[in-house]
Amino acid sequence: MSKYIINQNAQPTGEHEVHKEAICDHLPLPENRILVGYFDTCRQAIAEAKAKWPSNTIDGCAYCCPECHTR
Ligand SMILES: [Zn+2]
Repeated sequence: MSKYIINQNAQPTGEHEVHKEAICDHLPLPENRILVGYFDTCRQAIAEAKAKWPSNTIDGCAYCCPECHTR
């Protein structure tokens, strides 16, 4: 399983990006990372993030979660 984090700050376009922390080189600053949890796939991480923060728009990072990047 991999550790997934979400950027507490939204992108200029409004979405909060989920990252796979171990492999991403486009991570937010450490103080802006919030733990989502440990998952096998980014889809599970995105689902958990949406459940935790239902009012936020959430997307996968284009670099570390390309299969979950939709915007
Ligand atoms: Zn990333």
